[in-house]
Parts: sequence; C-alpha cells; structure tokens
Amino acid sequence: MGYLPSDSFATKAIHAGAHSDEHGSVIEPISLSTTFRQSSPAVPIGEYEYSRSQNPNRKNLEDAIAALENAKYGLAFSSGSATTAVILQSLPQGSHVVSIGDVYGGTHRYFTAVANTHGVETTFTNNLVEDLPNLIKENTKLVWIESPTNPTLKVTDIEYVTKIAKGVTKDIVVVVDNTFLSPYLSNPLNFGADIVIHSATKYINGHSDVVMGVLATNNDALYERLKYLQNAVGAIPSPFDCWMTHRGLKTLHLRSKQSSITAQKIAEFLAQSEDVILVNYPGLPTHENYEVVKKQHRGGMGGGMISFRVKGGAVSAAKFSSSTRLFALAESLGGVESLLEVPAVMTHGGIPKEQREQSGVFDDLIRLSVGIEDTDDLLEDIKQALLASKQ
Ligand SMILES: *Cc1c(COP(=O)(O)O)cnc(C)c1O
Repeated sequence: MGYLPSDSFATKAIHAGAHSDEHGSVIEPISLSTTFRQSSPAVPIGEYEYSRSQNPNRKNLEDAIAALENAKYGLAFSSGSATTAVILQSLPQGSHVVSIGDVYGGTHRYFTAVANTHGVETTFTNNLVEDLPNLIKENTKLVWIESPTNPTLKVTDIEYVTKIAKGVTKDIVVVVDNTFLSPYLSNPLNFGADIVIHSATKYINGHSDVVMGVLATNNDALYERLKYLQNAVGAIPSPFDCWMTHRGLKTLHLRSKQSSITAQKIAEFLAQSEDVILVNYPGLPTHENYEVVKKQHRGGMGGGMISFRVKGGAVSAAKFSSSTRLFALAESLGGVESLLEVPAVMTHGGIPKEQREQSGVFDDLIRLSVGIEDTDDLLEDIKQALLASKQ
C-alpha cells in the first residue's frame, strides 16, 4: 500500500502521509492528545511523547510536504512568518544575509526590525542575479529568494543564484519562498536551493481557513537544527490545522492548474486592453524572465497571481476594485475564491511611496489572486470592472 517516490505529483498529493489507524480509517483521525503514554520511564509506547515535539497529524502533513517538494524532510510551523523566523534564528550572531529586494512585507519586517536585534544583518537588492557576487561577504550565511515576487511577479533564476552563492562558499544556505507558485508549479530544491518555504495559508491549504507555514529540505544538518528550533521555539500548528491543511493539499494540483489556466487568459486579455498600462504575469512571453519561467515552472505555467496598472491612477484602481462581482476585495491569496487588492494602500501601504514605486508598486497597481471559479465568469467580471473603472 502507498505511493512510490516515482509516482506523479497528483498521486503523491493524495497518498503521501496518508496513514491509517487500527480501524482501517481511510482518512486519518485528528489526534488531539497533547501527551502520549510510555510503557516505562522514558520509553514511549509509540513514536510520540508530547505534541509540541511531534504529533501524528503534523507528522503526516510534514511527510506530504516533503514528498511534494521532492525533499527528504518537511517541517510545519504556526505561520509562514514563524517559518521565516525560525530559519533566521538558526543563524549564528554576526551573520549576514543577502535578500531579494521586494520580499513579502512580513519577511522584510523580520529582517529589518527583529533579526537585526539578534545580530543578523541583511542587504537587499532588486537584482540578485547581477549583484550577488559583489554583495557576498565573509560572514554571508544565507541568500533569500522569493520567486515570483509580490506584487510585481519578478522571477529569479534559482539555479544561477545558487551556483554563484555556492561558488563562493558551500556554507551559504539558499532559501526560496515558493508561496506564490506552490509545489505543484515549481520545486526550488530541484534547482539547488537548500530550503524551500511556503506560507501554507495560501495555495497549499488553499481554502482561506488556516494560517500555517511549512519548509522542506534535503540537508540532514539543516533539518536537525530547524527541527530542534521548531520544538524549542514552539511555534507549531495545531493538529486540527494540520489535518485541514493536509486535506487542502490533496487537491493542490487541480486548484493550482485551474487558477493558472484562468490567470493566463485574464492576463492575455489585460495585456491587449487599452485601459491597461502594464501587466505583470510570468506566463506572458513578454515577461522579462520568461526564459527562466519556462525552465523553473511546470509547463511554463504562470501561476494564479497577476498584477496590472490600470489607466486613470488611484481613482480608477479604487473604482475597479470595488466594482467586481466575484473577485472579493481582500488581502491574502491562493484560495479557491478569487481575490483582488490595491497594494499601494493595502498590503504595501506601509512602504514609503518612492521606495515602493522603485519596485513597480504604483498607486494604480491592482493585484489579482485568481481562484477556481469558472474561467469565463471571472473574465467577464474583469471586463465589466474595467468598464466601471472609467466611469
Ligand atoms: C503570506 C506570505 C508570507 C507569510 O505567511 P503567513 O502565513 O501570513 O505568516 C510569507 N511569504 C509570502 C510570499 C506570503 O505571501
């Protein structure tokens, strides 16, 4: 019984980490017990002792995550942000990090307002591929990539960056935040990264009802260190949330593919619209890193995220985003339902105007998270909102 490592993604999504119990349950029960019996002192009856250290539902989810990222190990945390925090806490005092410029806001906040107080200093660059050789210092321990970036969807060549970093010293750990693609569309470890992380809140759970983070790695020593910190820091997800996320993950391939197919159509429509200044979408051949997209993303798919600049400035962006029927105006992404937001005043509102405009976040930029409603219905919704934005 069970899946083989050579099975395809869909088979692994359904079967990895799916263990039965003594009743032969097809779906694992939720194990709420915080503690587990021992037969004599320090001799647990089974695999588990105390639920912070490990729990059956978390173990199953972590095994599934590892399988989907082609990794030996998976670890789950109480949020994507907790995952980031634990990785940075694993660095020795006095370490230096090189990070891509437009990282997720919470990641930027952790680098600049928390990690620095523990003696970890970060240099940001908007062009990792070009700048990295000059930015690596003697104490550089980690390179942080997010691809595609939020919200302008720039794509980084992971293989190339890894080669440069490892060429300087093998000790540099390359981390990729793969949240925007999900393991279905890309597996960064295949391109040489050491750790891949996700806010599982987004595509992996996929139903906008769990906040969680996960990571996967093939490196034994990194795994041991991060697992140690997972237990020591204690930022772990609940058994119920693990069960929910494991359930969500079983349809990841269907959801991810469908949202990407619809997003491609919407992006193509927007790209030829006279009411649109610019479209950022990795699936368009006009995307500046399209060659990397073809190499790094399954089937060259662009994913479910699009951003575009509407004509008419902030006023049109506001009109557009309050005129959609199906796209809900809300932060977050990666759920079955379509969402949209205006980064300049919502997710990226805290960044000074000049700085955000440098990375392409203008007042007229709209970000779409394309869900899995009917493609034509979503396209119609975008068309009518675009008309409304001009009135
Ligand atoms: C949401 C998000 C995070 C943070 O995850 P939380 O689960 O909200 O803590 C990190 N990176 C990216 C790219 C995200 O979209």
